[in-house]
Amino acid sequence: MTALWQHGEEESRRFATRFAGQLLLIGAGLGTFLTLVLGVRQGVFSAGWFEFLAACAVAAAWGLAYLLLPGPAPDPVLRATPAAAALLITVTLALNHSNAADGMLLLSWPLLFAAYLLPRRTAYWTLAVVVACLTVILLAGTGPDRFSAWVETSTSMVLTLVVIRRVRDQADRLKQALAEQASTDPLTGLSNRRTFDEALDREVTRQRRTREPLSLLAVDVDHFKKINDTWGHAAGDDTLAALGELLPSLVRASDTVSRIGGEEFGVLLPDCPAGQARLRADSLRAEVHAASRTWPHPVTVSVGVATLPDSADALDELVVAADTALYAAKDSGRDQVCVAPDRSRREDVP
Ligand code: GH3
Ligand code: MG
Ligand code: MG
Repeated sequence: MTALWQHGEEESRRFATRFAGQLLLIGAGLGTFLTLVLGVRQGVFSAGWFEFLAACAVAAAWGLAYLLLPGPAPDPVLRATPAAAALLITVTLALNHSNAADGMLLLSWPLLFAAYLLPRRTAYWTLAVVVACLTVILLAGTGPDRFSAWVETSTSMVLTLVVIRRVRDQADRLKQALAEQASTDPLTGLSNRRTFDEALDREVTRQRRTREPLSLLAVDVDHFKKINDTWGHAAGDDTLAALGELLPSLVRASDTVSRIGGEEFGVLLPDCPAGQARLRADSLRAEVHAASRTWPHPVTVSVGVATLPDSADALDELVVAADTALYAAKDSGRDQVCVAPDRSRREDVP
């Protein structure tokens, strides 16, 4: 499916709405200036000046309405805006039977707007409307050079759209690459702390709605400093990268595995009750123990497990509970799993 609005949909539509409002106001101002000032100077208040001013008034009111909107214009309205503006320009020029070559260039405004700011399919049908409008202006116009103006302007409009779409595609690719960089840990290829915090926030909100248990595993490499100290930082990096490959293969696709600190990983298990989370944490621990035996520097991990709503009833509490359980696993000798105590039982303690 063609991407409609990309990255920050609401923000893009808000920007497009404001920009459309500004263009309409500028167009209205320009039209009024040309009609009044030049018309008076040249003494050519010919037939049609009233239509020009009426069209300018419509454009001004329309632009003002967009600028005064508290949010973005509704999606179908915004998509239809450049085509509607092209029609307004065309009707005005056609009614006036003006020298066609003068007015055709005005249609590049709505086209440029659609080409860069609207989704691809909308941009292409705006082009079709614009070329149809150019044809109407050609047929209604009077200038001697109007046919060549039609050929030149139509070709330029098509090329303009192609070039602007290329620029937009490149900008989208760059945005996408930046977004990926901002959310990924380069050493392990896992999502980073920022993405993990966002996922945690989202899943906690979802847990409140669905009431399905949400489990969090805090996974920390045991005695990792020794690897660095004995074999060098690069060996430590290789071990982290190997864990970055191994850990996602040990969880479900719907789970989130992130590197949330130096040698610490967070695993989010949506819809996973405490008992199951303990089993899965233990199998993850055992798999790391077994798989890393073939690595140049074998490692073990300790895991703290906490579950919403069993061990916590809020996001911060869940994180603290998993961390406390991780410390307990370290204290119990490492290469261990510890589960945060059940809140109901904690509350029973006098
Ligand atoms: P524990 O079992 O108590 O967790 O001991 P530990 O040695 O794993 O923990 P400690 O916090 O003492 O040391 C963690 C080390 O991880 C220290 C830090 O230099 C190292 N580290 C953090 N980030 C990186 C990294 O990106 N690459 C490498 N090679 N080392 C890292
Ligand atoms: Mg450690
Ligand atoms: Mg640590």
